[in-house]
Amino acid sequence: MSASALSLPEFRNEPVADFSVPANRRAIEAALADVRSKFGHEYDLLIGGQRFQTAEKLRSVNPSHPAEVVGIHQRATPELATRAVESAYAYFPEWAATSAGDRIRKLLTAARLLREHKFEFDAWLVYEAGKTWPEADADTSEAIDFCEYYAREMLRLSGPQSVVQMPGEKDEMRYLPLGVGIVIPPWNFPLAILTGMTVAALVTGNTAVIKPSSETPTIAAKFAELLLEAGFPAKAFAFLPGSGSAIGDLLVQHPKTRFVAFTGSRDVGLRINELAAKTQPGQRWIKRVIAEMGGKDAIIVDADADLDKAADGVVASAFGYQGQKCSACSRAIVDERVYDEFLKSLKTKAAALTVGAADDPSSYMGPVISDAARRTILQYIDVGKKEGKAVVGGGSAPGDGYFIQPTVIADVPSTARIFQEEIFGPVLAVTKARDFQHALALANDSEYGLTGAVFSNTPEHIQQARERFFVGNLYFNRKCTGAMVGAHPFGGFNMSGTDSKAGGPDYLYLFTQAKSVGEKLR
Ligand code: NAP
Repeated sequence: MSASALSLPEFRNEPVADFSVPANRRAIEAALADVRSKFGHEYDLLIGGQRFQTAEKLRSVNPSHPAEVVGIHQRATPELATRAVESAYAYFPEWAATSAGDRIRKLLTAARLLREHKFEFDAWLVYEAGKTWPEADADTSEAIDFCEYYAREMLRLSGPQSVVQMPGEKDEMRYLPLGVGIVIPPWNFPLAILTGMTVAALVTGNTAVIKPSSETPTIAAKFAELLLEAGFPAKAFAFLPGSGSAIGDLLVQHPKTRFVAFTGSRDVGLRINELAAKTQPGQRWIKRVIAEMGGKDAIIVDADADLDKAADGVVASAFGYQGQKCSACSRAIVDERVYDEFLKSLKTKAAALTVGAADDPSSYMGPVISDAARRTILQYIDVGKKEGKAVVGGGSAPGDGYFIQPTVIADVPSTARIFQEEIFGPVLAVTKARDFQHALALANDSEYGLTGAVFSNTPEHIQQARERFFVGNLYFNRKCTGAMVGAHPFGGFNMSGTDSKAGGPDYLYLFTQAKSVGEKLR
């Protein structure tokens, strides 16, 4: 059936589960128990419909209790990585020739399956990524949104596009897929971002090699199984766990690689961009790189802001998922006239946050992802204590997991490392501004430009920020995290990446190339 025969209802965001509803609590508790009973299972690596085991294994752990092994995975060797690209390349013409309607239907099936297994995916996110129940459910909901949204977008892009008709000609333009895409997601949205980049590649007719984060391969393995269940052919994608430093360069440099869809840190993104730009022997195209990278996101608190709401917005943005979101607020920039009052409110709210195991619903914050992350964050806290004044937290939190206290460092100058560098943990720098213009200048004093927010009741200030706050995602009088698919297409400026605007109407174009055809009429 062709895509034009499909008619889909308007896109609506998947509602997040309300865990105050007893049925939802019971459902996630049952899913947590079920998933826990599957801890320590071994998962295969998938290439071209074949399953592989390697001698070297990758073990993912529960960051709330690191002695618990969540999943055991294969570690792709360079030979397997090469095979994955070549196999995806061999199958590309067949997959590209399938009808858009078929691909869209498979994607809608994937959305339905994700919805049916929502609490199960939530539970894997709780255990492998250290997400609290609401954070996990937001991740799964966003994954569903990407499937539903890109299905509709593909419907829009399928078939001939309307172009100006030259007299005496039939003129048209169509979007074609590119080829083999390497999909490299981070661990912090291990389902949503993995899903978004993968299904964007597949629904547009590309084949994909999925290299999941080494911290969260089980969630990726579960998603790979779901793609198969949804009817995506096993040859259309490879599931290739392995160390990024061991196989990443090879995947990016392979001459048959046509594009790379990456989300992760600035340094890895820049390396991928550089390597992809170098033409390899036998390569017949310019590789495309879609790279979404880090952030150093600021919230400005104006002199006339509602300070209670501003403190709530800053706390949610800085400490939700332990500050491990690219959109997390790591800088609060506050007008000096309200600085002391705001800081007082912020301290009270941040100090009241609970930290503990992610599966315990009384924890507002769970663990950070790994011991290495914990050590890096604690080092930054030590640096911050010298650069400013720690007024909340400032160290590890009790427990056997990778727990860190929500930490607020006040009086931080803009030259400080903790003002400029992405920490990716629950550490907030608070900085005083002389006035709104100064606050805006401070917010823009960053190599990143991902998200930002302004709490203000002055329309001129809101207008100035609209024009001059240089970020890809700007919000007024609300938190700077929680972008919604469809409403807030997501991506940043400068060192935050290529501003691909995931979850927006520009995104699928990045996975296609357009062909114009003009036919002279007799
Ligand atoms: P990361 O260390 O850059 O890793 C991201 C992915 O790249 C992982 O799958 C990693 O594999 C892989 N990788 C590592 N070295 C590689 C190489 N040489 N070649 C190819 N791939 C390689 O980032 P992360 O710690 O997972 O994620 C946190 C970062 O992501 C933060 O900077 C955050 O701001 C950013 N982020 C940005 C967005 C956005 O939309 N802008 C969204 C989410 C996160 P291994 O795990 O095997 O090393």
